[in-house]
Amino acid sequence: AKDGGRNGSRFFTVDMSAESRRKLRLESALRGALERGELLLVYQPQADVVTGRIRGCEALVRWKHAELGMVSPAEFIPLAEETGLILPIGEWILRTACAQAREWELAGQPVRIAVNLSAIQFHHGDLAATVAGILAEHSLPPELLELELTEGILMTDSARGMETLGRLHDMGVQISIDDFGTGYSSLSYLKRLPIQVLKIDQSFVRDIHTDPDDRAIVTAVIALAHSMKLKVVAEGVETDEQYIFLRDHRCDMLQGYLFSRPVPAQEVWEMMAAE
Ligand code: C2E
Ligand code: CA
Ligand code: CA
Ligand code: CA
Repeated sequence: AKDGGRNGSRFFTVDMSAESRRKLRLESALRGALERGELLLVYQPQADVVTGRIRGCEALVRWKHAELGMVSPAEFIPLAEETGLILPIGEWILRTACAQAREWELAGQPVRIAVNLSAIQFHHGDLAATVAGILAEHSLPPELLELELTEGILMTDSARGMETLGRLHDMGVQISIDDFGTGYSSLSYLKRLPIQVLKIDQSFVRDIHTDPDDRAIVTAVIALAHSMKLKVVAEGVETDEQYIFLRDHRCDMLQGYLFSRPVPAQEVWEMMAAE
């Protein structure tokens, strides 16, 4: 806090500029990251609650910089959004994930890959055409691609956004709602939009066995989703207690460290092969 004290303000200023310096540094490094091949995808399996088998996985981007080390997507994705770099980076992510899904399909293990979409990607240009192009490029059946959108994206009921969603759905691409419950209070979009999967945010899963409010929310969200014929994925599942609660309440899929961390494609392949 800026309490007016001389030292307080000085520290405040020094802090801010250290932060801005890092931001500038990251921004200039991010510009060349794609070309230098510093980005990679890891995949986190989503397990069927009943059988424990892998039903899908989420692609998560990683940035490995020579001097900066591993930079978290929580830090560089917002920066990529501010600078517009999210467009080429997002397209690379889509392409790489689709190539991977096709590789697994050809090898006899078709598994759906979920890709996170930023709002900027969703609203820029002709996303449905971009996705169609990438699917065709890799001969990937559209059912093997899932796009994770946040409530914020789904709430903007622009005619164009609705059209984009409709076209993706008509193509056969799956749409899921990421971080469900953290964004908006209105649920009306659930009945208007072509969505197949709802992902319960990890903040509701974390305290499931100690917090009755979180238990109530998770139970209600699963019931709501099922009554609308949506599948439910619980995120951030780390403990047996969470797993048992989610299984007993008929959640469909689990994603979290309990089952697997996000790992290189090869490790997902080995897990699938061992099933
Ligand atoms: P998200 O989409 O909600 O992704 C889930 C995050 O939870 C991931 O963090 C994942 O590693 C982490 N996680 C998974 N299981 C557990 C668990 O059991 N416990 C805990 N505590 N965490 C778990 P990550 O990979 O650092 O990504 C952070 C955020 O960055 C993502 O949140 C997403 O918003 C964004 N992001 C990541 N990859 C991409 C991408 O390819 N494109 C876009 N647009 N955003 C991405
Ligand atoms: Ca996600
Ligand atoms: Ca999420
Ligand atoms: Ca709570």
